[in-house]
Amino acid sequence: MRMSNLLMPTLREVPAEAEITSHRLMLRAGLIRKLAAGIYSYLPLGLRSLKKIEQIVREEMDRAGAQELLMSALLPAEAYQASGRWEVFGDSMFRLKDRGGRDFCLGPTHEELFTQTVIDNVRSYKEFPMTLYQIQTKYRDEGRPRFGLMRTREFTMKDAYSFDLSEEGLDKSYKKMYDAYCRIFTRLGLDFTIVDADSGAMGGSGSQEFMVKSPVGEDGIAYCDDCGYAANYEKAQCIPQKKEYPDGELTLEKVHTPNAHTIDELVSSLGMEPHNFAKTILYKADDKYIAAMVRGDREINEVKLKNLVGCTDDLELADPAVVRELTHAQVGFAGPIGLDVPVYADLEVTEMRNFIVGANETDYHWKNVNVGRDFTPDFTADIRLITDGDVCPHCGKPIKTAQGIEVGHIFKLGTKYSDALGLKALDESGEEKTVIMGCYGIGVTRCIAAVIEQNYDDNGIIWPVSVAPYHVVVVPVNHKDENQVKIAEKIYGELQARGIEALLDDREERAGVKFKDADLIGIPVRIVVGKKCGDGIVEYKLRRAESAEEKTIEVAIEEAAAYVKENL
Ligand code: ATP
Ligand code: MG
Repeated sequence: MRMSNLLMPTLREVPAEAEITSHRLMLRAGLIRKLAAGIYSYLPLGLRSLKKIEQIVREEMDRAGAQELLMSALLPAEAYQASGRWEVFGDSMFRLKDRGGRDFCLGPTHEELFTQTVIDNVRSYKEFPMTLYQIQTKYRDEGRPRFGLMRTREFTMKDAYSFDLSEEGLDKSYKKMYDAYCRIFTRLGLDFTIVDADSGAMGGSGSQEFMVKSPVGEDGIAYCDDCGYAANYEKAQCIPQKKEYPDGELTLEKVHTPNAHTIDELVSSLGMEPHNFAKTILYKADDKYIAAMVRGDREINEVKLKNLVGCTDDLELADPAVVRELTHAQVGFAGPIGLDVPVYADLEVTEMRNFIVGANETDYHWKNVNVGRDFTPDFTADIRLITDGDVCPHCGKPIKTAQGIEVGHIFKLGTKYSDALGLKALDESGEEKTVIMGCYGIGVTRCIAAVIEQNYDDNGIIWPVSVAPYHVVVVPVNHKDENQVKIAEKIYGELQARGIEALLDDREERAGVKFKDADLIGIPVRIVVGKKCGDGIVEYKLRRAESAEEKTIEVAIEEAAAYVKENL
């Protein structure tokens, strides 16, 4: 491609709306442009990288024996109504009506439609096991679209669905996808971690997420370098930590704590440690209210709590007015004693002795509280957020935490959708079986952002060869020098003849501009045709130079194209 013709609107300025590196660089390198919140156009360079990722995903899916098909993004409501997700998706589903008033949506994910396709088209058990997939556009009206391609309202997903007649069959299908995912993310040049994920709400039997560790990731992951345990925060099991508490049970005592609404204020007013307190937090769970308790130095993991409560909508903190009504006190003085809502206590709370809780009375707390004697939680479970001081639930060594970008998710669904829609098949012994499903997603467009988050420097993107929009850029330093232009053209032609994806920077620009752009758009190899071409020499440069010596290599003009081919 001749860059004089390329639509590549690079920007020198850092766009103000972009908060993270990949978003900034994609805008600056002219890969994408925003159309509306969470909706982007892919310009030529961006589209080429997107297609490359799609192709890698496709190759590995095909290699794993999955079959590609393609469904519409515009979908009738019926299948989603049958599964109950027409309601569950709530505001995150884009809905519309056709001219006859029938309900449609823009598909957020296709479990129902793939299930229906198998019901309608698979005739015999002999066709199982079967894994079907598509690479297709998804629509979700996200509450907070942000971070460029990280969280958009329109995105490309690879979604695959496996169909088996036995649990062992599902295990095998799942393992094939697991292996394919490892190959895909390795080929994309991503440094990834596979974490155990929560499958509670969806009712499946196992689930893992493929995470790219990055400070801009929106998911928390806990991992252990010693034994290899890794889980996302929702799934990461917290082992209760024992603290030193005074012996014996002391007498319950009401203490005056004026204006002490927070743990910090209490610590300074009563002169005790945060682990001597238990927080009581009131939540709205669907249409009822609950209270959750964790030790004063802990935070609640709302997903763990939600799964335990079994509500449909995400938990919401109760409004201050509701808190006042339920506790008969100002916000900040809630406690479990005499509270008229179900109390969910974290496991650690039951380990505490002679601790302090709110008294459900403004400016008062109870002191020397003991579980069993003074109150009994309705439910006790692990509902807290894991942190750096925690220990690994497998080996007991210290756990580490990091932020991760979820690029893929594999899930043993079980029979949720086959039950809902009626997908059954006779097995070889003539027995009727409910088909067991797995589902497997990759955020294809999110992957571009993840690749950039792990591959950039001050000057721009550093594409891994597998995802680079072009592999080589040939740069004549002085566009007015006929010899340089001629040699650059010749090398460009030879690269193309060898099937190498090359750019020729034939723009009438200063060398500095061309070099800056080449760095910004991250092309892996640069061939510079400069003054030395009079001596038959051009420069070969890698965008990702490990050391200064490696940075520039001189090659003979005649050998340049062959050298590139050999080294790519
Ligand atoms: P998240 O927790 O990030 O919202 P999810 O659990 O809703 O993701 P899945 O339904 O499992 O996502 O979708 C499969 C994959 O699609 C995810 O692993 C992610 O890579 C990608 N994905 C999901 N939502 C978005 C989005 N709004 N924008 C871009 N990619 C997305
Ligand atoms: Mg997920």
